[in-house]
Amino acid sequence: MDCLLKALVLNKEARVYIVSNKDTVNEAIRRHNLWPGATSVLGKTFSIAQMMGSMLKGREALTIKINGGNGQLGNIIVDANSKGEVRGYVDNPSVSIVNNNGGMNDYYAIGTEGMIVVIKDLKLKETFTSSVTCTGDLASDFTYYFYESEQTNSVVYLGMLIDVDNTCKLSGGMIIQLLPNASESTISYLENVISKYTSFNDLLENYSLEDILKLFFVDDYEIVETREVNFHCHCSKYNFSKALITLGKKDLQEIIEEDHKIEAVCHYCGEKYLFTEDEINKLINKI
Ligand code: ZN
Repeated sequence: MDCLLKALVLNKEARVYIVSNKDTVNEAIRRHNLWPGATSVLGKTFSIAQMMGSMLKGREALTIKINGGNGQLGNIIVDANSKGEVRGYVDNPSVSIVNNNGGMNDYYAIGTEGMIVVIKDLKLKETFTSSVTCTGDLASDFTYYFYESEQTNSVVYLGMLIDVDNTCKLSGGMIIQLLPNASESTISYLENVISKYTSFNDLLENYSLEDILKLFFVDDYEIVETREVNFHCHCSKYNFSKALITLGKKDLQEIIEEDHKIEAVCHYCGEKYLFTEDEINKLINKI
């Protein structure tokens, strides 16, 4: 089961979001047939999205759109909500780039000349959109995003280890954010501890999420929330039928004459919905 913790640390002068989500990533591999280069990037984006989703409340949701311009994956799109659910896809799932150390080289997959856009739906009149340039390094790009868009000093860790059979062995991340009025001693403690632990893969491999908190903050941490996170798509045949109705009578009649059926595929989760000639006729009658 994938899990996310929220904690207050260092005299409550910083907060931490930490997630372990290999089941989420393996579900995406199964649904989208992801190759390792695509798994690495989509999985890390899931980690960020699940942690950012846990900063939301109620029915609020967010979308992360990454397009690195010159990357092999094309668009990387991930939706997340406050319940720990994510869904997402990459335009080209058949990207397989592994560098010499067996680790992932995301730069070529993501690209280095584009943008990262975050759209927040806070259930108000309008959505909030902010963007930062994309350098191909998700951890540092989102560190900059939090600084630029949310005026928060953060450290972002991301980990991803892919097994020889191309399944996800380890995936997760951690965001440490300084709260306003953090003292000098908290800032220097943090600087010191983050310089000690640079590989999140090593941490995920050897420690539980709570043990990582212990390692970083000894006993100066308080877990304020523990939650399950997962891959979940809200698509349905009913929603697809509403979208088909918007095509209009003429287009639907043409489809009946040419194909006698419609197979709709959800980009986010790969689920297929088949509409027979009878069902399309019923939709036409509703128009
Ligand atoms: Zn779906």
